[in-house]
Amino acid sequence: MVESGKSSSASINPFEVALTQLDEAAKLIKLDSGLHKVLASPKRVLIVSIPVKMDNGRIEVFTGFRSQHNDARGPYKGGIRYHPQVSIDEVKALSMWMTWKCAVADIPYGGGKGGIICNPKQMSEGELERMTRRYAYGIADIIGPRTDIPAPDVYTGGKEMAWIMDTYSALKGNFVQPEIITGKPIALGGSLGRNEATGRGLSITVREAAKKLKINLKQATVAVQGFGNAGQFASQLVQDQGAKVVAASDSKGGVFNKAGMDVIALRKHKEKTGSVTGFSGAKAISNEEVLETDCTLLIPAALENQITAKNAGKVKAKIVAEAANGPTTPDGDDVLYKNKIMVIPDILANGGGVTVSYFEWLQNLRREYWSESEVNERLDKNITKAFLDVYDTHEKYGVNMRKASTVLAVNRVVEAVQMRGLWP
Ligand code: GLU
Repeated sequence: MVESGKSSSASINPFEVALTQLDEAAKLIKLDSGLHKVLASPKRVLIVSIPVKMDNGRIEVFTGFRSQHNDARGPYKGGIRYHPQVSIDEVKALSMWMTWKCAVADIPYGGGKGGIICNPKQMSEGELERMTRRYAYGIADIIGPRTDIPAPDVYTGGKEMAWIMDTYSALKGNFVQPEIITGKPIALGGSLGRNEATGRGLSITVREAAKKLKINLKQATVAVQGFGNAGQFASQLVQDQGAKVVAASDSKGGVFNKAGMDVIALRKHKEKTGSVTGFSGAKAISNEEVLETDCTLLIPAALENQITAKNAGKVKAKIVAEAANGPTTPDGDDVLYKNKIMVIPDILANGGGVTVSYFEWLQNLRREYWSESEVNERLDKNITKAFLDVYDTHEKYGVNMRKASTVLAVNRVVEAVQMRGLWP
């Protein structure tokens, strides 16, 4: 299964968005300007050139990145995405968000992110394997089970993780090292529950938000933009709580049905046809219209910069739960807050993925296998606590949930940075 996305508005630089969010949090906690500077740039960004022999015999050279933002609380952790819009600033932003996400979830990791500029949909299995292995070779010296542990992200999944694990293991001592990467297939030490984890974590945050807002999820309607891994499981698990999914979209378009659409049937339709479009009984709508659907819960589950100052005023949902990373810009956030819409920010709402990655890593290090119910129970406990920690911070500082989550994370990271000090 692949975590999927749609095209983003490329004009907004995600790293600038991440820096604005950091600035706002720094102001609220009166962060020392030196420490602010430490957190404003990644510790290291590696750019690798990836020559690949294509099926037609020609050599294509791809560009890949790995950004390591901060490791004060533990090894760098974060996914690898394959997408034509990957850029150095995008991976830098995503690595900073991973630092905050791991701090909000209170798991012992820092933040990292990788990516390759490519269009995986137009590549054969062989080309993908050669590109993935060459990228793994390129970053092998800066990753490691105790230094930087990659994972899946947009358009990567268990298959790619298996190739990276195999390449790394062969290069570094030629013995199997499952703890180098998470999101692996179960047969290679992947964790039960990891595939659904991002969606499950999101559904837990929605449950908690609904309690705070006194919303009955049995009467709730849902719109989901992006029907990849996170979007599918998030909407299915919210449906399991009684809500009705009325709108969904992917990179090819969207569908709407006021009476509700069964998520499992919709997923089967997408598996068969490659898209949600054409689902029986539903009306065709655009990706933009999905965001503006009259519903209780909106789940942006595609790429960055989807909700901006331009369209935020048209969002009708009461809760926006961000399965994607960075789907709302800071000015979009302000509009949603003014309109009393609760945003469950990405670094909280989609933290279930990396939380179960952490469980996978623990199982690998200990050579243990946990049952699915154990994984899910631990996930529920962790994410519920993260939600309540962010909610308390939101009340304490009188700020929206995004600022609250960044403040909570920055405080935790700064504490670790200060205790460790600077060396040399
Ligand atoms: N790519 C996912 C994220 O953005 C998962 C990261 C991980 O499991 O390390 O949170």
